[in-house]
Amino acid sequence: MCHGDDAARAANARAVRGGPLAGVPMLLKDNICTTEFPTTCGSKILAGYRPPYDATAVTRLREAGAVLIGKGNMDEFAMGSSTEYSAYGPTRNPYDLGRVPGGSSGGPAAAVAYGLCPIALGSDTGGSVRQPAAFCGVFGLKPTYGRISRYGLVAFGSSLDQIGIFARHAGDVALAYSVLAGPDAYDATTRLGDAPDVSGWERGVEGLRFGWPENLWKEGVERDVIDGLSSAAEWLERAGAKRVPFDFLPGEYAVATYYLVATAEASSNLARFDGVRYGFRHEDSDDLRALYTRTRSAGFGAEVQRRILLGTYALSAGYYDAYYLTAQRARSRIRHEYHEAFARCDFMLLPASPTLPFKLGEKTEDPLAMYLSDIFTIGANLAGIPGLSVPVGLTASGLPRSVQLLGPEDSEPVLLSAGRAIEMKGDQTKFDHRHESEFAWPTKR
Ligand code: GLN
Repeated sequence: MCHGDDAARAANARAVRGGPLAGVPMLLKDNICTTEFPTTCGSKILAGYRPPYDATAVTRLREAGAVLIGKGNMDEFAMGSSTEYSAYGPTRNPYDLGRVPGGSSGGPAAAVAYGLCPIALGSDTGGSVRQPAAFCGVFGLKPTYGRISRYGLVAFGSSLDQIGIFARHAGDVALAYSVLAGPDAYDATTRLGDAPDVSGWERGVEGLRFGWPENLWKEGVERDVIDGLSSAAEWLERAGAKRVPFDFLPGEYAVATYYLVATAEASSNLARFDGVRYGFRHEDSDDLRALYTRTRSAGFGAEVQRRILLGTYALSAGYYDAYYLTAQRARSRIRHEYHEAFARCDFMLLPASPTLPFKLGEKTEDPLAMYLSDIFTIGANLAGIPGLSVPVGLTASGLPRSVQLLGPEDSEPVLLSAGRAIEMKGDQTKFDHRHESEFAWPTKR
């Protein structure tokens, strides 16, 4: 979804002022509010909706001189792992048009992969930046919870949501992060104090310890994914990091916990789409209750309705203790487990997804199989910690391979320099972007 030349020209005029992202074309996932483009969240219920304000992330990009070229496709309300649940049709993987780009931020990930723009923003509630980044062979950062303002990001699971960054180089992720991260008076959940300084992203990994998941083969991970992980581990070791074996933390438990917490929060957040305040309204309703019911039944797709039903059930009287409270307890436990693990290593090396990009239609009829795509990413959202997907070249059949780095809160500088160390060793991409130089990092000018 790209919008008019006029908007690009106007943005360009602003970009001429300069700034660290002066003139850099950027794409935004279609759940990030901008005044000049519609924000649909991939849903019919928001068809044509134009927000009256800019998200804080958008304001900061504009001030840094970026040129916003349009919006990227997504699973409806960011619920999905393949971008097939968009009311506007699926996005395809640029490496193989018969396969999905991952989701829910599949549009921005695919756009960065094939070179439409060098940097794009997505949102990550349970993996929606890291998993599509992995499927499309680009970098994808989910920052520490509260580091990038959620003001103007349409809420899905507010305690899990973070805006994330796609780019083809570690340095470009760092640059966008340095522009976006920091407290915001419009979002009371942003962390106070300055965001960590990521200008040392070329520092290397000498002396760092990385966690290596010894029990991984028990989790049903594809061979090619394990091969990618082994290559990345060897590259990190050659660059001076030390491997510390550990058992992979909360997999299935994290998925179960997430699908209670996220759906509960979504059922509350999505209550505002009622045909009165925003976008689509069902015309054929003669009383208020019918207006709500018909608008929501016709405006939301099947997956969104499924989540709202699950979440409403988990929060309902009589079931709240059994489901929602139990999930909150499990969440505290998961947080604690990550905390303990980071006492033994500086970051962990994990897959971003147990599989390579799958075929279109392969999982749409099986929601549980789709949910399990996020087994390695969901823990970071529950624990509020940052994660970075890093490309590690292609498989023999030409599909992107990727790894995920997870670290404790505010470890973005470590993740980016480890990502950079891996980037320096790998060299294979289908779309040859090596002719392009990275954007000048402000401190180097
Ligand atoms: N795939 C997960 C879900 O469907 C995560 C989505 C996301 O991170 N927005 O909920």
